[in-house]
Amino acid sequence: MMEKSGIGIFPGIVVGRAAVFNHMVQDSVEHALADDSSAELRSFEEARESVLSSIRSLKPATDEEKAMLGVYESMLSDPDYLALIRENITERRYTASWAVEAATEKYTAALAALGDAYFAERIADIKDAESRLLAAISGMVAEIAVTEPSIIIADYLMPTELMQMDRKHVLGLLLDGGGPTSHIAILAHSYEIPAIVGLGDISSSADDGSIVAMDAKDGVAVLDPDEKTVRSFRARRGIAIRNEAELRKEAEHPAITADGHRIHLMCNIEGTDGIEGAIAAGAEGIGLFRTEFLALKDFGSEESRAAVYAEAAKRMGPYGPVTFRTYDLGGDKMADGMDNGEANPILGWRAVRFCMERRDIFRSQLMSILRASALSPSVRLMFPMISGSEELLEVLAFLEDVKDECRKKGIVFDENMKVGTMIEVPSAAITADIIADHVDFMSIGTNDLIQYTIAVDRGNEKIAHLYSPLHPAVLRLLKYVADSAKKKGVTVSICGEMAGQAEYAPLLVGLGFDELSMTAHSVLEVRKRIRSLDWESCADFADRVLSLPDATSIENALREYNGKA
Ligand code: PEP
Ligand code: MG
Repeated sequence: MMEKSGIGIFPGIVVGRAAVFNHMVQDSVEHALADDSSAELRSFEEARESVLSSIRSLKPATDEEKAMLGVYESMLSDPDYLALIRENITERRYTASWAVEAATEKYTAALAALGDAYFAERIADIKDAESRLLAAISGMVAEIAVTEPSIIIADYLMPTELMQMDRKHVLGLLLDGGGPTSHIAILAHSYEIPAIVGLGDISSSADDGSIVAMDAKDGVAVLDPDEKTVRSFRARRGIAIRNEAELRKEAEHPAITADGHRIHLMCNIEGTDGIEGAIAAGAEGIGLFRTEFLALKDFGSEESRAAVYAEAAKRMGPYGPVTFRTYDLGGDKMADGMDNGEANPILGWRAVRFCMERRDIFRSQLMSILRASALSPSVRLMFPMISGSEELLEVLAFLEDVKDECRKKGIVFDENMKVGTMIEVPSAAITADIIADHVDFMSIGTNDLIQYTIAVDRGNEKIAHLYSPLHPAVLRLLKYVADSAKKKGVTVSICGEMAGQAEYAPLLVGLGFDELSMTAHSVLEVRKRIRSLDWESCADFADRVLSLPDATSIENALREYNGKA
């Protein structure tokens, strides 16, 4: 029995079998002579077949990607390379992984000796093909396919890997890395999968198929639990399920403070499959539709995208606005073929920066949103990662061009469609008064705003304790944006994870936010909390908190306030 603790993402108590995946396979090469060379040869041949077929099933999006897959394929079919590997196994009695490693080393050394720049560049692709082969031999990653109910344990997961899994089999998620607002965490929350991140080395401590107990509310996972522990987790699970049923009853009530101040609660979704949950939670619209999640594997056509957007707008429209955020790709959300090995992708080629360079992609998405706007007045459009008014004006000018193109082509759209921007870069927050002159609404992305303001990577579990939503600098920015919006008569909301944490509700309401957007599950808890609050008292509290010197004092004041009010 071994207990591990990390950061709970979506609550849930589960006992189940572990399915362990580890992407870090390079270190697993065993330099020992094999006991059974024919088994090693079989293992190699099977791994080669499986890598080849997975490579052939990929659709290259760019010429560069096509060239890379070409290198993989020719490498895995090269008679000299294959002969060397087979010889290493049958004659030298190397293990399959050692045989691959040794043959690849010889091969790449020969290429490097040619002194040719083209061949030198191909070495990276060859090493990549090698690591796919090694992964398949070790059986550690290959395809992450979950075929029976399991608790997924992994070093890390890419959003696409979770999206591709059969989610009815995913009982829970335990990851070595990841911060509380990393996109994999947001996705787990959105899919309502009990999840804990930042568990250190759980993927190398857990055995595939072993029993695991997890309580994601407390951020605790127990590997190989004894019977007593399993009984205690199951008993707690029963209580948690009853509490959840109580919370669900909250969906029937509007979010009005005890002194009659109305707060509008909306939902964040990543696809149309989130709409049912949003309606069930009583959300008053979609404050953030993260459209990029539908584009990670395939952008789709203008028409197919417009149909998806229109479906979302039609279904959710009766409850409130549906806010399509244009592609926030980059960072930890790379579309196929987008990853160009940047040193700092979080500060790099992402969101509108990517879209304004790939105008073909951007134009096509804007057209789809405009088409959907003709079918429902609920459609709103929002830009991510805007850093200031100049960038915003460029993006707005491009939107005007696309609208003109629609007019010329006879494509109908809502001429009054509301257009807004996210405020998630400190420079945008500090100039919110200027930005407000050009938009209908602003929505604060606290996940990014916090990471950029205090220079703490939101996805890095090593510094997760420094990721502090209550830092006075963050609160001052929130206050400044709220005040600027009010002065300019522009709607303002928060759509970062902070909005969905019930303990922050008194502060956010007190700072002047009356629109909050979050995952469906959080709507229930936040609504319950808001109904217990007094708006005047929250405003006084927020005023008082703004004069405190640091996050710890603010946290203490908030804890005390939540204990009383
Ligand atoms: C944010 O940054 O707070 C936000 C809502 O956007 P995302 O989490 O998708 O980056
Ligand atoms: Mg963001």
